[in-house]
Amino acid sequence: MQIAPDTLSLIGNTPLVRLKGPSEATGCEIFGKCEFTNPGASVKDRAALFIVRDAEEKGLIQPGGTIVEGTAGNTGIGLALVANAKGYKTIIVMPETQSREKMDTLRALGAELVLVPAAPYSNPGHFVHTSRRIAEETPNAIWANQFDNIANRRAHICGTANEIWEQMEGRVDGFTCAVGTGGTLAGVGLGLKSHDEKVRIALSDPHGAALYNYYAHGELKAEGSSVAEGIGQGRITANLEGAPIDTQFRISDEEGLEWVWKLMREQGLALGLSSGINVAGAVALARELGPGHRIATILCDTGFRYLSSLYNPEWLRAKGLAVPDWLERR
Ligand code: PMP
Repeated sequence: MQIAPDTLSLIGNTPLVRLKGPSEATGCEIFGKCEFTNPGASVKDRAALFIVRDAEEKGLIQPGGTIVEGTAGNTGIGLALVANAKGYKTIIVMPETQSREKMDTLRALGAELVLVPAAPYSNPGHFVHTSRRIAEETPNAIWANQFDNIANRRAHICGTANEIWEQMEGRVDGFTCAVGTGGTLAGVGLGLKSHDEKVRIALSDPHGAALYNYYAHGELKAEGSSVAEGIGQGRITANLEGAPIDTQFRISDEEGLEWVWKLMREQGLALGLSSGINVAGAVALARELGPGHRIATILCDTGFRYLSSLYNPEWLRAKGLAVPDWLERR
């Protein structure tokens, strides 16, 4: 495609890049799906487009209507740009702990932003419940409901998984990523397994999430914490139901950040921490499979979305995280 007819046709069909350090460290070929090349600069543009199209096909949203969603930020950015392209309004509810850049981006897109204090899912003030209430109270509005709306994972069954399969010419031994809604892991997992049941699907779970214990021991139990945005789930969402997960890893922020720094300095790839955790998980999967295997993971969004946090020495120090030398010297 030389000239795209519109913005929405720029969503998906993202490139796959060989990750040099992770491949050399393991003797495997590890590839990253460059989701930061989507127009909203994250993997969530795909889910946003599928959710809005699904609502249109079901007649749930009328012209001039409003899309309401609770999000760590990236889904909101995806929904806002899809809404702008289609003539809808957006109301985005977000925990106030998310990155400044995501809030500014949402405001720049024209979304109405509602910030709420970070709260556990059981609290009625949690961003997901707040967004559902706002949707119910707003005329001609839909609640995108990314966690339990499986149009989200369909975006990855139809898009991401088939793209990876074709880009890797049908030679895929393993895939891993972390879970926010679970749309990416379950969708790519189901999609790849439909091509070849033997593809090993791994969960890369940050500390503070409950899924590692669930898939390893059958118990939803969280331990520790993480500063990664957009991932870390405490329940089995509808998107996760039936996800074909063969193995699981628990990845620390320190391990994830090590790959974020290395890929930035050695390969010029600007990533966020969920991507770093995915790459650390791909390395763990490569070590489990042994040398000579081919593994894909997701580079979920761009590091430029975290200049005031991950790439800011003061912020890292305040979180008790080590500051890399080159970042200190700026
Ligand atoms: N990384 C980032 C930065 C995200 O915003 C998200 C979405 N919340 C994810 C990873 C996880 O994707 P999914 O919702 O498909 O599990």
